[in-house]
Amino acid sequence: MSRFFSDKFKTLKPYIPGEQPKSDALSPLGLPYIKLNTNESPYPPPPGVISAVSKKELELQRLYPNPEGALLVSKLAKHYGVLPENIMIGNGSDELLAFSFLAFFTGSRGGVLFPDITYGFYPVYAELFDVPYTALPLGDDFTVNINDYIGSGKNIVLANPNAPTGIALCASDIEKIAKSNQNQIVLIDEAYVDFGAESAVSLISKYDNLLVIHTYSKARSMAGARLAYAIASAPIISDLMKIKYSINSYNVNRLAQTMGAAALDEDLYYKEKQTQIIKTRKYTMSELEKFGFIMTDSKANFIFAKHPSLSGDELYIKLKARGILIRHWNKPRIADYVRITIGTKEQMDALISEIREILR
Ligand code: PMP
Repeated sequence: MSRFFSDKFKTLKPYIPGEQPKSDALSPLGLPYIKLNTNESPYPPPPGVISAVSKKELELQRLYPNPEGALLVSKLAKHYGVLPENIMIGNGSDELLAFSFLAFFTGSRGGVLFPDITYGFYPVYAELFDVPYTALPLGDDFTVNINDYIGSGKNIVLANPNAPTGIALCASDIEKIAKSNQNQIVLIDEAYVDFGAESAVSLISKYDNLLVIHTYSKARSMAGARLAYAIASAPIISDLMKIKYSINSYNVNRLAQTMGAAALDEDLYYKEKQTQIIKTRKYTMSELEKFGFIMTDSKANFIFAKHPSLSGDELYIKLKARGILIRHWNKPRIADYVRITIGTKEQMDALISEIREILR
């Protein structure tokens, strides 16, 4: 720490992203790592997205992008049957989450509730922006008790499906929460919604306090592009826009906007890949079950699992030594668990065979 750092942030504990080994990094076995640690898609973007990155498009890089991504926003609006004023794009959902915490959870209307086990960035943003928060304990089975949130009179953030548990609430439960907290913001982070959960997007027209965030990072195979969008009532979007224009007007780069628009013509490709990932998740879970793993009912592109005779830390370390990266947190309640991203069937077969060896 330099001697110049603001004392406000001296105790701040930043979010720690999953390991991103260099593209030429080799595991101790001399092979590239199998990366099952940050919930990226194992599949490339569709051909239409790749060809959208044309020479002409690259030449246009000399110009700033449209600050609001007007073309992409109008395409997204059509896609979801809403108006452009209901959508704002961001540099990944992380940025839109940060803008939301600033816009709605600071100040005298501030404060927020979220589960004790959820996306690790929520408490970090709360600390960074001085937002009072309560982390409500999930049940012993890691489910969200919706009665903790119904009529709470507090702003709420829920990842749905939740991370790292993968457990989802149904849209009617989200509706109960939004309906009973109409003077508060209910933010639903749907980063993983395309892998088997119900989206709350259709509720936006009914509840002007509901804010849904989607990302291109997972089901749309574009984690590297850093692109996401918020869908909400026009006044919420305009508040978020005010924050964005006070931090970074050109927050989404030109290429990401172009690729994001092209991706919206590729529903068939994405549907096929999502179905494949769901199938591979089911297959992996049934194989891990044979080894005695206990798992949550994940509706995401990852599995949350523990083994009765292998600690989470041990499994993480042993798999890494064998060239497979997974995620483990040394945190209360979940230290026994690991989170494993669903890759291709071949990658999951490699994982299963390494686990078989480790357990032997
Ligand atoms: N929300 C949740 C629940 C996540 O797990 C992640 C991925 N780490 C994000 C948001 C951030 O996604 P991105 O910034 O790539 O859109």
